[in-house]
Amino acid sequence: MEASLENRALVRTGTTLQLRRNRFHPSAGTTHRMLRVGVCGTDLQIQRGARGDRARILGHEGIGLRLPDTDRETIPVCEIFDPVDRHDQDTILGHSYDGLLRDYFTSSSGHPYQVVVAQDLLPLDLAPLTEPLATALYGWELIGEHLRPPGRVAIFGAGSAALLLALTGERLGYRIELIQPRPERAQFLTGRSILGTAELRTHAAADSADGAIVCLPREAAHPALDSALTCLRPGGVLNLFGGIPAAFDHPDLPGVDLAAIRRRNVCGHTRGSASELVSTATGKPVWVTGHRGSSPQQLDAAQRLLIDDPARYGALVTHVISLEEAATRIPALAARDRARGEHIKVVIDPTMTEPTRPADIHTSVAQHLRQLR
Ligand SMILES: [Zn+2]
Repeated sequence: MEASLENRALVRTGTTLQLRRNRFHPSAGTTHRMLRVGVCGTDLQIQRGARGDRARILGHEGIGLRLPDTDRETIPVCEIFDPVDRHDQDTILGHSYDGLLRDYFTSSSGHPYQVVVAQDLLPLDLAPLTEPLATALYGWELIGEHLRPPGRVAIFGAGSAALLLALTGERLGYRIELIQPRPERAQFLTGRSILGTAELRTHAAADSADGAIVCLPREAAHPALDSALTCLRPGGVLNLFGGIPAAFDHPDLPGVDLAAIRRRNVCGHTRGSASELVSTATGKPVWVTGHRGSSPQQLDAAQRLLIDDPARYGALVTHVISLEEAATRIPALAARDRARGEHIKVVIDPTMTEPTRPADIHTSVAQHLRQLR
């Protein structure tokens, strides 16, 4: 192995982002050459200062080529990162410690992130969808304990996570309503034929849904929860998918610690019961559930879905960009600069030199590994 490698990293200071060039020596620990890294809604929230996470380098949805150990020869393998520590759910790659938006990631920091092996047929550009897709599958597993298809589920949000929930919910046979108010977004989603049976709505009718999923940034959590609780019929199930900070209080759910309910389900493991029956301020009973992370089984199931239907999931990858391009585009997305147009999943390819290119749903992990030989 070379003595030293150039390792560019996107380093965050406050709300700015800078591409810094360092050299590093891959000595102690396992090193991954980062191949693709996805930008997630939570990354944008951290970037604009809506969350207090400490990481200076963002990125938790990624695939890397594991470099051979210096002392023994290993067969090249691509691995997908599993960011949430199942033993300490507040330890999250790219949130509580520095993440993947760089050329090389080394595990020498002692943080216990996990990886799963990337399947041979997985399209490389879709690999960053694996982790968010696994969390969507987890969300449906929890909802499935209370609600079977073809129950009607309102999803609040229209970002990549909400759309992955919609696509997987449709596939399971639920009747999905995607609730989002912006006409430009609706037009964009229709134009790209993202949704199948799911219907786009600007709001959800009262007592109309058997299930509701809140999948919005933190700044929108309060009003979204109002709407979700209103649209649920008595006995319906609410999944707090995103946007719920610790000690989150909502006047419609007096005395309910929503963040604590969400923390019971971690990486496929449940402590106590997976959901709780609570009563709204108006006396409507609803089940509340939520989770953090995903399990290795869910990550493998997500890979299989991506392999089986690359065109469908590939439509979500609206941009593939270089690290240089990401230095300006991520802050613009974080500031919701609409002049840049609509985005769903932005994938960063640190190996490419051109600023942007369309998503490639054909080049698989196995093909990439073959090219290296
Ligand atoms: Zn994410």
